[in-house]
Amino acid sequence: MNISRIFIFAIICLSLGSCGLPLHRDLVVKNKGEVRQFEVSNPVFANIVTQFEQAGKQYSGNSEFTVGDVPVNFGDTENPSFEGVCFSYPDGRTEVIIRESWWNSASQALRESLLFHELGHCVLGRDHDNETVEVNGASRKSSMMNAVIVNSNQYSQFRAGYLTELFTQTKQTLYTAFGI
Ligand SMILES: [Zn+2]
Repeated sequence: MNISRIFIFAIICLSLGSCGLPLHRDLVVKNKGEVRQFEVSNPVFANIVTQFEQAGKQYSGNSEFTVGDVPVNFGDTENPSFEGVCFSYPDGRTEVIIRESWWNSASQALRESLLFHELGHCVLGRDHDNETVEVNGASRKSSMMNAVIVNSNQYSQFRAGYLTELFTQTKQTLYTAFGI
């Protein structure tokens, strides 16, 4: 492999985000021939999906904002590290799958933090943003699209800032709430 080939490989693997290593992320692109598992959502998720739509309207300013054709269901996340995943299929459709055992033991705030993160992938088309900021010696996530979901205390305390960032990708509201 000569230098130019190494360079091209580096560009390709950077753009794919994998470089031949397993993709340790919960936005999973499915292979050709794989089809979506569900057509409609489990009613268990209706309240939080409605909350996501209301937040989307409020924070994006788009009164027409909807989740659209993105069903949410319990199932196999296909990776023990992930409590939830967004599967993206070759036909352009997406779906969110949540691990039921985790859901049943999680607080309402943590459920919302996880499901909004997954809808961030599946509905908003967002990828991970792992930026953290130091606040009085503590590390805080500056996006709920961090690969590790925002915990329930942080999410409850800074919900408006996180939702502003989620729907508009502007962080100033969150920074101000952090006191920086
Ligand atoms: Zn994710």
